Amino acid sequence: MGRRDTCADHRQRHLRHGDHAHQYTAAKCLKCGLCLEVCPNYVNGKTFFGAAFANDCYLVATRNRAEGGRIRALYAEHFGKTCSKSLSCMEVCPMKIPTLASMSKLNRLKR
Ligand code: SF4
Repeated sequence: MGRRDTCADHRQRHLRHGDHAHQYTAAKCLKCGLCLEVCPNYVNGKTFFGAAFANDCYLVATRNRAEGGRIRALYAEHFGKTCSKSLSCMEVCPMKIPTLASMSKLNRLKR
């Protein structure tokens, strides 16, 4: 795959310079679970997977176009329909990951 193909792929996925910067930031997740500890919607054993999952969905959906639809469906099922946007995850995150940006960018990805 040549450079032109790569740029075309990125345009189709609506990736801009800021998106690449956010991919780098989201990839810093330590999987420490602090976001789950403070989340008012997370209950152990239930199907809401929390902020780390949302950030991972954003990363996979933007990097693997073929899996984008399946990832968005998993995101909706295990995060989107339950998150109440308290955003306590962002306050406690040691890596300062702006999960709200992952949510917004994931929602705007071209289907
Ligand atoms: S608190 Fe931040 S670094 Fe820790 S698991 Fe959650 S998103 Fe990842």
